[in-house]
Amino acid sequence: MSGKGRLVLYVGPMFAGKSSHLIKAASAHERVLALKPGFDTRDGAELVSRDGSHFAARSVRRWPSHSEDYSHIVLDEVQFMVSPHYEGDIVAELQSARLRGATVTVGGLDSDYRQEPFEIVSRLMQFADEIIHLEARCHVCNQPAQWTAKTHETGHLLETGDQELYEARCDEHWCLPEVP
Ligand SMILES: [Zn+2]
Repeated sequence: MSGKGRLVLYVGPMFAGKSSHLIKAASAHERVLALKPGFDTRDGAELVSRDGSHFAARSVRRWPSHSEDYSHIVLDEVQFMVSPHYEGDIVAELQSARLRGATVTVGGLDSDYRQEPFEIVSRLMQFADEIIHLEARCHVCNQPAQWTAKTHETGHLLETGDQELYEARCDEHWCLPEVP
């Protein structure tokens, strides 16, 4: 395999269906290496979407060996692949896979619950051949939502959770969590 590959990046808030798109991309190919951060232990060794689809994935804390055996790499929740939860530079590793000719499909949150960009995702955007911005539905008004809000402050910036901890919010309804 040689020649320039392709990096496709799905970004948006939580509950925007990113995992569903990644699973569709993974299912459409053979020789797929699906990865998720070892930090995210919610669904075991699978990519799982809220619409019920799933795909076997490896939870990793460093770049796997033999990745060059795969022509398609799918990776979810890339915002968690940072020190101390990940050993290495995931942006450089994905770029290297793309340059050797792999198709790389990545999903992640573009901003945290404070509306601050995740630096790792911003860096990936510079290399992406295609960026797909997904929207969720605002938990308050059901209009398109681009932000993730936290329902209560826990003191952790990187924290996995579901509807008990996070909600999608529109511009008007986004707010910082109340500090107890
Ligand atoms: Zn709203």
